[in-house]
Amino acid sequence: MIDEHKEKIIGLSEDIYNQPELGYKEFETTRKVSKAFEELGLDVEKDIAITGCKTTLKGKQDGPNVALMGELDAVVCHEHPDANKETGAVHACGHNAQVGSMFGAAIGLIASGVIDELTGSITFMGVPAEEFVELEFREQLMDKNQIKYFGGKQELIYRGYFDDIDISLMCHLLPSNGIVVGPTGNGFIGKKVQFIGKESHAGAMPEGGINALNAANLSLAAINAQRETFPDEDNIRVHPIITKGGDLVNIVPADVRLESYVRGNSIEGIKDANKKVNKALKAGAMGVGADVKITELPGFLPLIANDELSDICYDNAIQLVDKDKVEDHIHMTGSFDFGDISHIMPSLHPLVGGVSGDLHTREFQVVDKELSYITSAKLLVSTLIDLLSNQAEKGNQILKDFQPKLTKKEYLSLQEEISKEIYESYRD
Ligand SMILES: [Zn+2]
Repeated sequence: MIDEHKEKIIGLSEDIYNQPELGYKEFETTRKVSKAFEELGLDVEKDIAITGCKTTLKGKQDGPNVALMGELDAVVCHEHPDANKETGAVHACGHNAQVGSMFGAAIGLIASGVIDELTGSITFMGVPAEEFVELEFREQLMDKNQIKYFGGKQELIYRGYFDDIDISLMCHLLPSNGIVVGPTGNGFIGKKVQFIGKESHAGAMPEGGINALNAANLSLAAINAQRETFPDEDNIRVHPIITKGGDLVNIVPADVRLESYVRGNSIEGIKDANKKVNKALKAGAMGVGADVKITELPGFLPLIANDELSDICYDNAIQLVDKDKVEDHIHMTGSFDFGDISHIMPSLHPLVGGVSGDLHTREFQVVDKELSYITSAKLLVSTLIDLLSNQAEKGNQILKDFQPKLTKKEYLSLQEEISKEIYESYRD
């Protein structure tokens, strides 16, 4: 059934590719996705978190409600040949394919009539702002009380859009020619750091200043000195950048800024490394007698793969591509905001190939439309059918066996705990 509607599915995916929009600005993308679902006869709730949309397809009787998600946002890569000339936005993470496969799955369920055989429902969600970017723009949205969180899924959890969801699924693209059914991933804390010194004439009176750039340099050296203490099994990644190095070359820098993520594969591991990074940042300020302000932002939680879901998905994947092209578990040291969902409910985030070039780079291209757009839709639809057929036997079993790492309440208080500002002064 999906094969008969191939052109429509690829058409929507490519339409979204040709008009990339960044997080919390996906107005046209939301409109296109909503229209596609409305044409299938569904009622669509729009602009659920500034942008984004949600619609539910019900089976013959009540049962588990499974969310199928497609992320709406693009990334910025000015070097990519298809990037928008002004904004640099381009779908170099392939989120347009997620929307295509989500739509393809809906067509498969409706056009075949199989939805009328299922117990439970499927909620299709176009989710905004997966990429943790344009932080200043998002801070403005926060100041205007338009969002509470940088990430779209975090915002949707907070707004209650996952309250009626029992299980979550989505497919992401990966540069490969196969399928990874149950990847896990690192989570992270985001950090903004400001070293505050004292300006002075750099030639005539350097002894009268406090050099904030020197504080930053010392802190970077101290972070590097901490790297040998990160346990291998935590998969820690710390990758700071200097976003402001000073004002004018003949003035001792008084305002120097860094940004960083502290990534790891468990909440405990991330917290441990983050503590060490903060010590290093304070050490830099202490070394020259400056002040340091550290702003911590909740990033994404590590991605967990539900084993039972992963087994079901594996059995379907080997029907769709050669068995030797299907991997079960791999750990990705990048991060996905789907990780937050995976702490609250049984979740799976399979990765499907068909792409050449790395994610977020100028080389990224979908080279196998069949695999990226169509096989991924088939993988999702067959997994949904397995979950909700036979009185949703498998879906209910997964829910029975599942122990959430966090309840929604615990999740929201963790977000509060992570959001904090640390200010230390080491001036005489
Ligand atoms: Zn992505």
